[in-house]
Amino acid sequence: MTRIAIIPGDGIGPEVMESVYPVLEWVRKQGRDAEWVSFPYGADHFLRTGEALSDAHFQELRDSFDTVLFGAVGDPRVPDGRHAEALLLRLRQELELHVNYRPCFPFLDGHVPLKGVRASEIHIEVFRENTEGPYCLKGHTEPDRAVDEAVHSSKAVRILLKAAFEHAKQKECPLTVAHKANVMKHGHGLWMRVFNELRAEFPEVKASGMHADALLCALVQDPKRFAVIAADNFIGDLVSDLLAGFQGGMGVAPSASWAPHRPHRCAALFEPVHGSAPDIAGKGIANPIGMLLSTALFFQREGWSKEAEAVQGAVAAVLTRGLATPDLGGTSTCREMQQAIQKEIKTC
Ligand code: ATP
Repeated sequence: MTRIAIIPGDGIGPEVMESVYPVLEWVRKQGRDAEWVSFPYGADHFLRTGEALSDAHFQELRDSFDTVLFGAVGDPRVPDGRHAEALLLRLRQELELHVNYRPCFPFLDGHVPLKGVRASEIHIEVFRENTEGPYCLKGHTEPDRAVDEAVHSSKAVRILLKAAFEHAKQKECPLTVAHKANVMKHGHGLWMRVFNELRAEFPEVKASGMHADALLCALVQDPKRFAVIAADNFIGDLVSDLLAGFQGGMGVAPSASWAPHRPHRCAALFEPVHGSAPDIAGKGIANPIGMLLSTALFFQREGWSKEAEAVQGAVAAVLTRGLATPDLGGTSTCREMQQAIQKEIKTC
């Protein structure tokens, strides 16, 4: 039995999560042994109870669930985002979800904003470290200066880079590590040391390092030259948001996070790349595709390939028919998109 913890969270999180429940019901009808439990965490719960994630629930999540499906977190009523730190960041850090996988496989030429590039030509997968760098949240402000620290450990960097090397080896494609070791001599110096050790362990992988700023320029000029890109937390976020733009926008980009070394039963979390989007929350126009494709990544990881392909195929089919939420230039609501995708899934 696969046990799934669902945390819809804040803003558009609950709206896009609504699209997941019918898919899970359908998966169960296909004979997959799954059950799910929803947890109420988010800003409402935090403001009401002062609790971002109780220790008891954290332990329950860690020890008696296999995975988390997460919507989004962030709310203007908690401007310092402390409930998000104590919820999502805690899950990522304490479950040791060092690997954050963000694939970019655009479905439609019309959504790729680059001239002369076809959607079918872009296949880029980002491996982003998910727990460190600026996520150490250390720093301070003085009257005339401010300091933000970024911490990098060889353990987390090795776990992330090894996952990227293994993926590139399996896919027989090149790996590029985006860094700024010329400036961030300590942190990214460590990244390059671990990178060079792994390069020796994976001689079959064509691996190279590239300064992150030059890489962003090259990505726009010639995205076809890249396949697997690995980076730290901050640079990985910039690269994957740029790639979300290639797919049509923030609303469609999925992600999966996992702990390859499996320190606990619950060693994976799936969430869209986008945040809680307070500007459109409650309007019913959020794009559910990022959440649905993240759910498809969960199915894939679970070995439920047929179901994963059904969701991906249904999304592609619905977009091809011209249905789209406003962020993709359409007029459909979140619910209309969800219903159209769900109908398509059933016919797969
Ligand atoms: P975070 O730091 O939590 O990732 P963010 O500041 O990057 O958050 P998002 O919440 O991802 O911001 O929103 C960025 C922009 O993308 C907003 O204008 C938002 O409306 C839009 N957006 C994000 N997700 C969606 C979605 N699912 N559907 C439509 N628009 C979206």
